[in-house]
Amino acid sequence: MDEVPVEIPCPICKVEGQVRMMTHIDEIPYFGEHTQVTVLCHACGWRQSDFIPAEGKKPGSCQLLISKPEHIRARVVRSSSCTVRIPELDLEVKPGTASTGYVSNVEGVIDRFMEIIVMVTRQCYADDSDIEDIKRLQDMHTTLLELKEDPTPRPITVELLDPNGRSQILHGDATMRELAAVELEDLPVGPEPPVFSQSDVE
Ligand SMILES: [Zn+2]
Repeated sequence: MDEVPVEIPCPICKVEGQVRMMTHIDEIPYFGEHTQVTVLCHACGWRQSDFIPAEGKKPGSCQLLISKPEHIRARVVRSSSCTVRIPELDLEVKPGTASTGYVSNVEGVIDRFMEIIVMVTRQCYADDSDIEDIKRLQDMHTTLLELKEDPTPRPITVELLDPNGRSQILHGDATMRELAAVELEDLPVGPEPPVFSQSDVE
């Protein structure tokens, strides 16, 4: 991949002249042709990836009920502007300022949730939190872990919400819909480096 210099200071370390952009055109089944854009800083090692579908925006919400083992292997394209939710467990990960896109699978997404739950649980122990809160976190962790069993004991939904329409769960059972205006108001869009607008990669 060719690196192209980008005339912006690094958003993290502020050093100038060290930010580069790489673009790479790829094809993923269900998602289609898209451009993978990676911006990186040679000074501090920061990098951020995103995926821009060739055929324009996808519907903003994509969800899949994880009810059988093959669902756990479904590929996931998550852009830097994507919020990931598991409504049954009231879990949500919003894109922060350091959010980066990734291609993974449902299992990878669930592993990220479990890592966060483990971190929060540790903090609860350290803070001497209410035992009921700790128990609730442990139950969540168990539910997520059980998704890897065959057959799936307790199906739950993984939902991607992306105001930029660049995220998708790539499986025939996944359903997609537009986001309502009221939903869009509540969704963060994540980091906004100027290089990620569509016109820059064409
Ligand atoms: Zn930097």
